[in-house]
Amino acid sequence: MKVTVLVGGVGGARFLQGARELFGVTPFPPGDGDDTSEHSVTAIVNVGDDAWMHGVRICPDLDTCMYTLGGGIDTDRGWGRKGETWHAKEELAAYGANPDWFGLGDRDLATHLIRTQMLDAGFALSDIAAALCRRWQPGVRLLPVTDDRHETHVVIDKPDGEPGDKVAIHFQEWWVRHRAQVRTHGFAQVGSDDATPAPGVIEAITEADVVLLAPSNPVVSIGAITSVPGVRAALRRTSARVVGVSAVIDDKPLRGMADECLSVIGVGSSATAIAAHYGARSANGLLDGWLVADGDGAADGEASLEGIAVGSAPLLMTDPATTADMIRAACALVGADTP
Ligand code: GDP
Ligand code: CA
Repeated sequence: MKVTVLVGGVGGARFLQGARELFGVTPFPPGDGDDTSEHSVTAIVNVGDDAWMHGVRICPDLDTCMYTLGGGIDTDRGWGRKGETWHAKEELAAYGANPDWFGLGDRDLATHLIRTQMLDAGFALSDIAAALCRRWQPGVRLLPVTDDRHETHVVIDKPDGEPGDKVAIHFQEWWVRHRAQVRTHGFAQVGSDDATPAPGVIEAITEADVVLLAPSNPVVSIGAITSVPGVRAALRRTSARVVGVSAVIDDKPLRGMADECLSVIGVGSSATAIAAHYGARSANGLLDGWLVADGDGAADGEASLEGIAVGSAPLLMTDPATTADMIRAACALVGADTP
């Protein structure tokens, strides 16, 4: 069985731990003919949060997935390396270097240095992800959605500007520096005007047996992925069923900024509102199925969910086995077999 999952960072990484538990290990990068696994899991990872900081390329969602699956994550923070120290950050601050609000750990820095060296040498981000995974052995295929720049920027009121003046800042600055506590008007992807999906991304969608949308941020993770030209069209035409899992439980996001992001685009923070935002594949949208938390089910006859098979299950990703059960329930909704 070929399983493809669209993921962001923390929520996506936990979901992938469940997918690996359920479908077994997908050797990545592939070895030399030793792949005897019956199933394969491919993650298409958001790159909208990627940024240049202090001359190195940061890929927060790719690294969160890689460290989580490879056993290197700081589980309390949910991002970055366990056993991290912050000497480089302190030294940069002592020089007054900007940005001073970004948490760049010493161990993490090594990953960014290698990635930046490989970018300078002309390698594509997808090749670099595979090279870094040689060390981390995540057990799922990790593919950045694009090798091109496709960064999420946020349009806010210009600080100290005239009334009505606006400015676009990087998503990281909006979230990490401003904690989203500024008047916000919208999101935009910035980078290459003609970003194309990374090699293997479209095939992973169109040749999958089932496509899962992780309970990642619907706007700046899943939304940023589907805004890469060609991805949405592939999701619309694949013969696989597409099923999403809600990132809100009891109409509240668990951690992260889904509600701040949703309110910017005028979507409510309820499971039903998010499903209506994704839309039914039968009506120009993305979903055949939608798994919500027990108790969050839509009222019968909710018109915005017409054409979407809605089911409920416990949605708290407490450990990989529980998350595997959740994925089993999501697949069952659209008639996809699971081990
Ligand atoms: P980020 O890139 O690190 O923000 O991570 P993602 O976009 O992948 O995921 C963030 C989303 O995951 C948040 O909106 C949370 O509501 C959601 N999330 C986190 N933990 C859980 C969980 O245990 N269950 C569910 N259903 N959603 C979760
Ligand atoms: Ca992210």
